[in-house]
Amino acid sequence: MGHFNMKVLIVHAHPEPQSFTASMKRLAMETLQVQGHEVMLSDLYAMHWNPVASAADFGVRQNPDYLVYALEQRESVAAGQIAPDIAAELDKLLSCDLVIFSFPLYWCSMPAIMKGWLDRVLVSGKIYGGLRFYDRGGMRGKRALLAYTCGGRDFMFGEHGIHGEMDIMLRHVLRGTLGYAGFEVLPSFVAFHVPYVAPGEREAILERYGDYLTKLEELEPLSFPTLDDFDAEMRPLASHPLVAEQD
Ligand SMILES: Cc1cc2nc3c(=O)[nH]c(=O)nc-3n(C[C@H](O)[C@H](O)[C@H](O)COP(=O)(O)OP(=O)(O)OC[C@H]3O[C@@H](n4cnc5c(N)ncnc54)[C@H](O)[C@@H]3O)c2cc1C
Repeated sequence: MGHFNMKVLIVHAHPEPQSFTASMKRLAMETLQVQGHEVMLSDLYAMHWNPVASAADFGVRQNPDYLVYALEQRESVAAGQIAPDIAAELDKLLSCDLVIFSFPLYWCSMPAIMKGWLDRVLVSGKIYGGLRFYDRGGMRGKRALLAYTCGGRDFMFGEHGIHGEMDIMLRHVLRGTLGYAGFEVLPSFVAFHVPYVAPGEREAILERYGDYLTKLEELEPLSFPTLDDFDAEMRPLASHPLVAEQD
């Protein structure tokens, strides 16, 4: 497994090219390329990525009088009329095996520019739609990894930590977005307390990250629902493991 060559898309969002988060992004590119993987980069600030979903995203409108964004996404992608910046990102996304999201934690989430990448690129019709989500989502067969930096210390995000657990904090991304879209979501790589750590610790974090990237095959993906456990209206079936447990 470790020897198969992947296409990797790194979506990176940091306003400072010399930042530690950017160093992590560079390390990821080098490490993956040395392993023989092909790496594509979307450096959102450098690209001046437009994060704002709007009517301007569609060349031709299905309904010019009232904007239903997801409906226009579906129709525009099918007709090849979606905005060129979205089309270019969609091509990268659809061709890759692994997406790495590289960012500093901003208010318990990703920076707005990256949220706007999700809003505009994860288009209805291709990525999800109908009853295609979770294990039937359009991104099934692909993996996703969050690699982020933060100011807080690791114990602040532990089970009894003051901020609560990291994966619960980022549930809207891990499950609500990536899991929903059908990705296999790998356990996140988190660089804690980055601006404040002792000398030498940042180098140690980079070493741990490089090591992490060479062992992705060994990581157990996060667990999400399978639609097999739900009826057509998404009510849990008796076969659902949690329902079965109650009986
Ligand atoms: C709007 C906003 C909201 C925030 N919300 C949260 C939050 O909710 N929770 C939270 O915990 N934190 C939060 N933070 C803090 C933020 O997450 C951290 O400041 C950020 O992740 C630090 O990463 P950086 O890449 O910006 O570090 P930088 O400040 O860019 O880097 C830190 C140091 O590392 C050095 N460095 C760079 N490259 C290397 C290298 N290769 N080797 C060694 N050293 C290097 C730099 O020179 C610098 O001295 C928030 C910050 C902002 C601005």
